Amino acid sequence: MRIDILCLFPEMFVSPFDCSIIKRARERGLVEVVVHNIRDYTHDKHRTVDDYAYGGGPGMVLKPEPIFEAVESIKKQVDYGGLPIILLTPQGRLFTQQVARELALHQNIMLVCGHYEGVDERVREHLITDEISIGDYVLSGGELAAMVVVDAVVRLIPGVLGSPLSFHSDSHSNGLLEYPQYTRPEVYRSWSVPAVLLSGNHGEIARWRRQQAILRTLKRRPDLAKQANLSTEE
Ligand code: SAM
Repeated sequence: MRIDILCLFPEMFVSPFDCSIIKRARERGLVEVVVHNIRDYTHDKHRTVDDYAYGGGPGMVLKPEPIFEAVESIKKQVDYGGLPIILLTPQGRLFTQQVARELALHQNIMLVCGHYEGVDERVREHLITDEISIGDYVLSGGELAAMVVVDAVVRLIPGVLGSPLSFHSDSHSNGLLEYPQYTRPEVYRSWSVPAVLLSGNHGEIARWRRQQAILRTLKRRPDLAKQANLSTEE
């Protein structure tokens, strides 16, 4: 998979993409992340990417020309026919595990990060094919949102996680939150690991985990539980 990111602050991506799972996925050639500086597509001495809003109001708006030129230049190198060109915006559809799964199926995705008051509306109308919000709050720029999307998508690419089963029980993967996890020591400050997890009985362990996942989801996110595929007994 190749992910192209267009932004004003490429340096923000250096550390997050250079450790842990994303670093290993890049080193193993499972994903290529290419960060483009929108400023490189300006033509004036000051490399101007923003301007005042027509109609007045506070803050600056990202100009359309450099963004169009950046996207068109990338499209000359990589075939984006039918593939998502995504604007990160608090006005987009909400990013969920389901959306991450959907994006992970593509060969390429492009993420366009806004800044300041956002981007000229003509970018949204004539260049962008999808709009994603990572939550109902406003960030200063799309860079952090792009990192969230990349992280959630990359770990779903086959081969990226050590065990292909690791994300099947993850919260939000099957409509439920994940069951509680424990590791050594068996007793810590007099708090013991539930006995069933030490029993070696895989059937019992699976039953307990499923029950805990259901209880936890009902308690913390009853809205999710309504959509989970529960049996009559459950
Ligand atoms: N004035 C815009 C509005 O009210 O919709 C918000 C602009 S915000 C300060 C600057 C940039 O941060 C946006 O263009 C977008 O790229 C990014 N951004 C902010 N909040 C976001 C969110 N919840 N999800 C995704 N991107 C976000």
